[in-house]
Amino acid sequence: MSAVTEIFASKVFDDRVMKSRLSAKVYNSLKNTIEIGEKLDITVANAVAEAMKEWALEQGATHYTHWFQPLTGITAEKHDSFISPSPDGRVIMDFSGKELIKGEPDASSFPSGGLRATFEARGYTAWDPTSYAFIKGKTLCIPTAFCSYGGEALDKKTPLLRSMQALNKQALRILKLFGNENVRHVTTSVGPEQEYFLIPKELYDKRKDLIYTGRTLFGAKPPKGQELDDHYFGVIKPRVEAYMTDLNDELWKLGILAKTQHNEVAPAQHELAPIYGTTNIATDHNQLTMEIMKKVAQKHGLVCLLHEKPFDGVNGSGKHNNWSISTDTGVNLLTPGETPYENAQFLLFLCAVIKAVDDYQDLLRISVATAGNDHRLGANEAPPAVISIFLGDELEGILEAIESDKPYEGVEKTVMKLGVSVLPRFTRDTTDRNRTSPFAFTGNKFEFRMVGSADSIACANIMLNSAVAESLRIYADRLEQAENFEDKLHEMIKKTITDHKRIIFNGNGYDDAWIKEATEERGLLNLRTTPDAIPHLMDEKNVKMLTLHKVFTEAELRSRTEITLENYCKQVIIEANTMEQLARRDILPAVGEYAAFVARSAAEKKAVVPELALEYETRTVKRLTELSADAYKALDLLDSVLEKTKHTKDVIETGYLIRDELLGAMAALRTACDEAETLTAAKFWPFPTYDELLFGVR
Ligand code: ADP
Ligand code: MG
Repeated sequence: MSAVTEIFASKVFDDRVMKSRLSAKVYNSLKNTIEIGEKLDITVANAVAEAMKEWALEQGATHYTHWFQPLTGITAEKHDSFISPSPDGRVIMDFSGKELIKGEPDASSFPSGGLRATFEARGYTAWDPTSYAFIKGKTLCIPTAFCSYGGEALDKKTPLLRSMQALNKQALRILKLFGNENVRHVTTSVGPEQEYFLIPKELYDKRKDLIYTGRTLFGAKPPKGQELDDHYFGVIKPRVEAYMTDLNDELWKLGILAKTQHNEVAPAQHELAPIYGTTNIATDHNQLTMEIMKKVAQKHGLVCLLHEKPFDGVNGSGKHNNWSISTDTGVNLLTPGETPYENAQFLLFLCAVIKAVDDYQDLLRISVATAGNDHRLGANEAPPAVISIFLGDELEGILEAIESDKPYEGVEKTVMKLGVSVLPRFTRDTTDRNRTSPFAFTGNKFEFRMVGSADSIACANIMLNSAVAESLRIYADRLEQAENFEDKLHEMIKKTITDHKRIIFNGNGYDDAWIKEATEERGLLNLRTTPDAIPHLMDEKNVKMLTLHKVFTEAELRSRTEITLENYCKQVIIEANTMEQLARRDILPAVGEYAAFVARSAAEKKAVVPELALEYETRTVKRLTELSADAYKALDLLDSVLEKTKHTKDVIETGYLIRDELLGAMAALRTACDEAETLTAAKFWPFPTYDELLFGVR
């Protein structure tokens, strides 16, 4: 056995451990809970808790925690030790089924968006047995859902699990109609590709903007950026390689299938991709991955930046969400099959996704809307804020042929009549690589590329699962009533193509002409910023669909609208305050000092050689003084807008104010300061510059 296979999942209470440590009865009953959602008996919970504790103690653990994902987007944990007093005045290490199943953290400091005002102040966490417990440091971490006492979800895991259930239910109806009687369960799988930046810690420590906001708020462009394309897939520097090696070890121990690593487009940017897994586990693993990436970086004297746009002028970071649907019998429903009948089933699932993405463009956009991601979407390296689907030539050709009842010229010359034996075999085209599409079909999965690098992938997958469940529900309703299954199927697929082909776009998504065509001719949504997008969460059609599938209650949706906008506003306001402080206390004084230094040296030179022209000195002092004045003016504006944000009637209004006024004032301040940076002597500049940050890891 190699070292990797030995350490892999060594810190996870996984199936192998359960099997060896639980009685056959307990193990089977737990398996039923995990696989088909059977209710868990307290005697089973007690036995599992005991085995978990024994295992955790052997691993050196002293504490346990219910690990959950509140609406802050990061994970939360409160540690309790296993100790329990014994009559002899000492302690025993104790952990009960009750403690495993349910925890009661004080929920009052987590965002609830008004949910808790109407319910109790306390929330509770409930064990998610489908995601394995693991050990971090000296703590046994138990993945849990987090709810209010009224049962409202206060986290991201609960709606994610509900959305997976919704999709399972509707997909099973469809599969039954196609005669797949032995399928018991349908799940979605995800492989999130995680992008990040690594910079030297000693430089990070000198940048308050990075410390407070995760991104640089000032910084002139370095002489070299990413224009040579020499970083993408380039040789990995030894220091970065050492980091990656360490990171992989830590992730492997936690059973995370870290697989691919490479340099990304921007200098100092890298990517890590795991092998895909069930959506809720992939989500837990991605949260853990982000946490561990940061932790391991510290050990290497580095800082891992997960922000979507840490640096202006070079690519930002995303998280490509590779998504597919598969059965417990091992069939990926997004893979064209061997027979026409399977192909018809594939086409129906494909159509379900196309319809879902078109009908719920807004929800997908909302699911990735954050202050950080607003800087990335629509910038020229990231998908635009307009959602469209890339299918590749072959599939698009097939859909066109079906729609127009014309022969499909691609593989065989046949009129496409579904399910009747003449559907051509598809060649799985894996060479198609449209990197500009926000939602691309890549052979047997869809890649949703709009998710931000710092964000949880939960929201994107909640919306995706729910919207597809809704398409499938509509299809199943019709097909179950149909007199002739094949005719109805054909008609429905044709209709979906006609109704929703506007969302399919195989061209360049970065092109301005596309945005014009998308919005003006095709009527697609262009929700450019978070304040534009989020209020649509409460649109009637969205509330109706998400409550119908029991993914969210209306109150939960209202709370998410509130929290997401509130987070957005708080974040940008923190950025504005940080800029304010840096400009007033660091940048303006430095610029002033340098201008005075140049002026003094000019005066001194003039005293010696009176006829000197002193062009450099004069122009530098003049320009720096002008720029200081510009910056000062922008600061005034910034102050007045910040003051206005304190008097708005709600977060929607604050959001609009930020979008319409604050961001502009911040940009004006930055422009003046960045130009001043280019004219100020390096040793006068108060903090590390872009070239140092981006090229500092050597
Ligand atoms: P790239 O998109 O960079 O060419 P791949 O397509 O090989 O790379 O995989 C990217 C990610 O997609 C990986 O995390 C991989 O595990 C995941 N992936 C591959 N197949 C599937 C699938 N059927 N469902 C979900 N994710 C998948
Ligand atoms: Mg990819």
